Amino acid sequence: MKKYSDFAINICNEFKSIQEKFVEKYNLNDFTEWFYDEETSLITFKKGQTELNFEYIPIGSYSNSGKTWLWAWNNKELLHNNKLKTLLIKQFGEKNNYSKLTEGFFDADKYVGWELTAIAYNMIEAIGSYRIVNDNNLEIYFLLTDKIESNFVEELKIINKSKTEKQIQCKKHGSNRLAFICQHLNEIDKTGFEEAFESEIGMYLGEDDNLSAWCNKCEETRIKDDGWNEENIKMAKIKLVCEECYFEIKEKNLI
Ligand SMILES: [Zn+2]
Ligand SMILES: [Zn+2]
Repeated sequence: MKKYSDFAINICNEFKSIQEKFVEKYNLNDFTEWFYDEETSLITFKKGQTELNFEYIPIGSYSNSGKTWLWAWNNKELLHNNKLKTLLIKQFGEKNNYSKLTEGFFDADKYVGWELTAIAYNMIEAIGSYRIVNDNNLEIYFLLTDKIESNFVEELKIINKSKTEKQIQCKKHGSNRLAFICQHLNEIDKTGFEEAFESEIGMYLGEDDNLSAWCNKCEETRIKDDGWNEENIKMAKIKLVCEECYFEIKEKNLI
């Protein structure tokens, strides 16, 4: 297994030139204003009448006062509807025993932000990254996934905002996308895990796509009845959970 430091250095070196080219391509340093919106997942750069929009995924934040790093997946305050994509980095860290990728919150030096953003870029499809320093001296790191054409910006804002509004507040995980499961699925028992479609944590979901899963028993009935109907759906007693809970239960069933 590769030592973490060797792994990270390689990726950081590669990322440095990619990021420089990205900033150059869009002249990001020329813009005088920027703002971002968690509800719409957009970051906007502005200079006079010129406006440039990108869709983004939050990666994490570095506190200059506390000298700590907080991964986006562990940030319960974040509303962003795609933040769980960063759990893919955690899963990779678990396989390789890289603690910086698996601990949600830890003490770190000021280089950690770019280092972990470079690793995120390596695992999540994106065109570049950006760092913002807010009034509290908090550095917030983003991966920019797409440049949004100006004629699509308003429409996308509405789409993403409605996705964010649909999120549920989980006691354990904070604000996340919602998922549906049958009453028999839980975090303790292995019940089988049948899904409406093959899922991956943080995946893109269209407006009408919802993560949904049910147990083996419900699946047997569903097949026997040739699909869901009023009667067997009552038996399944579908309930709502957050996306993170959904994947915890899924993982339990895969072991
Ligand atoms: Zn069931
Ligand atoms: Zn949850």
